[in-house]
Amino acid sequence: MSDVSAQLPFWEAKTLEEMTQQEWESLCDGCGLCCLNKLQDEETDEIVYTRVICAYSDIATGRCSDYANRSTNVPSCVQLTKERVAEFDWLPDSCAYRLIYRRQPLPDWHPLVSGQVDSVKQAKQGIHAIRVVVDNGRLDYEDFLIDNP
Ligand code: SF4
Ligand code: SF4
Repeated sequence: MSDVSAQLPFWEAKTLEEMTQQEWESLCDGCGLCCLNKLQDEETDEIVYTRVICAYSDIATGRCSDYANRSTNVPSCVQLTKERVAEFDWLPDSCAYRLIYRRQPLPDWHPLVSGQVDSVKQAKQGIHAIRVVVDNGRLDYEDFLIDNP
Protein backbone atom coordinates (compact mmCIF):
# COMPACT_ATOMS: atom_id res chain seq x y z
CA MET A 1 0.00 0.00 0.00
CA SER A 2 1.41 3.43 -0.94
CA ASP A 3 1.78 6.31 1.47
CA VAL A 4 -0.78 8.88 0.21
CA SER A 5 0.82 11.76 2.14
CA ALA A 6 4.09 11.16 0.27
CA GLN A 7 2.30 12.06 -2.98
CA LEU A 8 0.84 15.29 -1.63
CA PRO A 9 2.60 18.68 -1.78
CA PHE A 10 4.08 19.64 1.57
CA TRP A 11 1.37 22.20 2.35
CA GLU A 12 -1.26 19.47 2.15
CA ALA A 13 0.80 16.72 3.73
CA LYS A 14 2.16 18.63 6.70
CA THR A 15 0.80 20.74 9.50
CA LEU A 16 2.34 24.17 10.04
CA GLU A 17 4.30 22.76 12.97
CA GLU A 18 5.81 20.04 10.79
CA MET A 19 7.09 22.37 8.08
CA THR A 20 10.73 23.25 7.67
CA GLN A 21 11.69 26.93 7.89
CA GLN A 22 12.07 27.04 4.11
CA GLU A 23 8.62 25.53 3.59
CA TRP A 24 7.16 27.94 6.14
CA GLU A 25 8.68 30.96 4.38
CA SER A 26 7.50 29.75 0.97
CA LEU A 27 3.91 29.68 2.20
CA CYS A 28 3.77 33.48 2.12
CA ASP A 29 2.25 34.36 -1.24
CA GLY A 30 3.37 38.01 -1.10
CA CYS A 31 -0.18 39.32 -1.18
CA GLY A 32 1.05 42.26 0.92
CA LEU A 33 -2.24 42.61 2.79
CA CYS A 34 -0.65 42.21 6.22
CA CYS A 35 1.46 45.31 5.47
CA LEU A 36 -1.61 47.54 5.24
CA ASN A 37 -1.99 49.73 8.31
CA LYS A 38 -4.78 48.75 10.62
CA LEU A 39 -6.71 50.53 13.35
CA GLN A 40 -8.04 48.93 16.49
CA ASP A 41 -11.26 50.03 18.17
CA GLU A 42 -10.32 50.92 21.76
CA GLU A 43 -13.60 49.60 23.16
CA THR A 44 -14.27 46.49 21.10
CA ASP A 45 -10.68 45.64 20.07
CA GLU A 46 -12.04 45.16 16.57
CA ILE A 47 -9.36 45.58 13.92
CA VAL A 48 -10.18 47.45 10.74
CA TYR A 49 -7.98 47.73 7.68
CA THR A 50 -6.93 50.84 5.83
CA ARG A 51 -5.54 51.07 2.32
CA VAL A 52 -2.43 52.82 3.64
CA ILE A 53 0.54 50.53 3.18
CA CYS A 54 3.83 50.45 5.05
CA ALA A 55 6.54 52.56 3.41
CA TYR A 56 8.83 49.51 3.35
CA SER A 57 6.44 47.50 1.21
CA ASP A 58 7.49 47.00 -2.39
CA ILE A 59 4.06 47.47 -3.92
CA ALA A 60 5.19 46.03 -7.24
CA THR A 61 5.84 42.64 -5.66
CA GLY A 62 3.85 42.84 -2.40
CA ARG A 63 7.04 41.85 -0.54
CA CYS A 64 8.90 43.70 2.19
CA SER A 65 11.75 45.72 0.70
CA ASP A 66 13.95 45.12 3.77
CA TYR A 67 12.62 41.90 5.26
CA ALA A 68 15.73 41.10 7.33
CA ASN A 69 15.49 44.41 9.19
CA ARG A 70 11.72 44.77 9.33
CA SER A 71 11.52 44.71 13.13
CA THR A 72 14.12 47.46 13.40
CA ASN A 73 12.66 49.55 10.60
CA VAL A 74 9.10 49.22 11.87
CA PRO A 75 8.97 48.19 15.55
CA SER A 76 5.23 47.54 15.27
CA CYS A 77 5.78 45.05 12.43
CA VAL A 78 4.50 41.79 13.86
CA GLN A 79 6.42 38.61 13.19
CA LEU A 80 4.20 35.69 12.34
CA THR A 81 5.35 32.48 14.00
CA LYS A 82 3.99 28.95 14.09
CA GLU A 83 3.05 29.45 17.72
CA ARG A 84 1.04 32.58 16.98
CA VAL A 85 -0.91 31.67 13.83
CA ALA A 86 -3.97 30.76 15.88
CA GLU A 87 -4.22 34.16 17.54
CA PHE A 88 -3.56 36.10 14.32
CA ASP A 89 -7.18 36.03 13.23
CA TRP A 90 -6.83 39.59 11.94
CA LEU A 91 -4.86 38.31 8.98
CA PRO A 92 -6.89 38.25 5.75
CA ASP A 93 -8.96 35.14 5.12
CA SER A 94 -6.82 34.48 2.05
CA CYS A 95 -3.54 34.44 4.00
CA ALA A 96 -1.88 31.10 3.29
CA TYR A 97 -0.92 30.61 6.93
CA ARG A 98 -4.50 31.05 8.01
CA LEU A 99 -5.77 28.79 5.23
CA ILE A 100 -3.43 25.97 6.21
CA TYR A 101 -4.21 26.55 9.88
CA ARG A 102 -7.91 26.11 9.03
CA ARG A 103 -7.04 23.08 6.86
CA GLN A 104 -8.32 24.79 3.72
CA PRO A 105 -6.71 24.53 0.27
CA LEU A 106 -4.45 27.20 -1.18
CA PRO A 107 -6.03 29.16 -4.07
CA ASP A 108 -5.02 28.57 -7.67
CA TRP A 109 -3.21 31.92 -7.71
CA HIS A 110 -0.85 30.98 -4.89
CA PRO A 111 2.69 30.78 -6.33
CA LEU A 112 3.19 27.30 -4.87
CA VAL A 113 0.13 26.08 -6.77
CA SER A 114 0.59 28.07 -9.97
CA GLY A 115 4.36 27.65 -10.15
CA GLN A 116 4.56 31.35 -11.11
CA VAL A 117 6.22 33.86 -8.75
CA ASP A 118 3.97 36.69 -9.93
CA SER A 119 0.66 34.84 -10.05
CA VAL A 120 -0.79 36.93 -7.18
CA LYS A 121 -0.27 40.05 -9.27
CA GLN A 122 -1.46 38.37 -12.46
CA ALA A 123 -4.68 37.33 -10.70
CA LYS A 124 -5.08 40.84 -9.24
CA GLN A 125 -5.22 39.52 -5.71
CA GLY A 126 -3.95 41.01 -2.45
CA ILE A 127 -2.78 44.62 -2.64
CA HIS A 128 -3.06 44.42 -6.43
CA ALA A 129 -6.83 44.58 -5.95
CA ILE A 130 -6.62 47.71 -3.76
CA ARG A 131 -5.82 51.35 -4.54
CA VAL A 132 -3.08 51.52 -1.93
CA VAL A 133 -1.52 54.71 -0.58
CA VAL A 134 2.05 54.55 0.70
CA ASP A 135 2.40 55.73 4.29
CA ASN A 136 4.33 58.95 4.69
CA GLY A 137 3.77 59.40 8.41
CA ARG A 138 1.38 62.30 7.90
CA LEU A 139 -1.82 60.52 6.85
CA ASP A 140 -4.98 60.32 8.90
CA TYR A 141 -5.70 56.60 8.66
CA GLU A 142 -9.38 57.20 9.40
CA ASP A 143 -9.65 58.67 5.90
CA PHE A 144 -8.54 55.43 4.30
CA LEU A 145 -10.64 52.72 5.93
CA ILE A 146 -11.60 49.75 3.77
CA ASP A 147 -13.61 46.58 4.29
CA ASN A 148 -11.38 43.97 5.84
CA PRO A 149 -9.85 41.81 3.10
S1 SF4 B 1 -1.18 38.14 4.49
FE1 SF4 B 1 -0.17 36.16 4.77
S2 SF4 B 1 0.29 35.45 2.68
FE2 SF4 B 1 -0.18 37.66 2.55
S3 SF4 B 1 1.84 38.67 2.65
FE3 SF4 B 1 1.00 38.56 4.75
S4 SF4 B 1 1.84 36.67 5.63
FE4 SF4 B 1 2.11 36.55 3.39
S1 SF4 C 1 8.34 46.39 7.64
FE1 SF4 C 1 8.09 45.08 5.85
S2 SF4 C 1 6.96 43.26 6.60
FE2 SF4 C 1 6.74 44.90 8.17
S3 SF4 C 1 4.79 45.94 7.67
FE3 SF4 C 1 6.46 47.05 6.65
S4 SF4 C 1 6.58 46.17 4.57
FE4 SF4 C 1 5.41 44.74 5.85
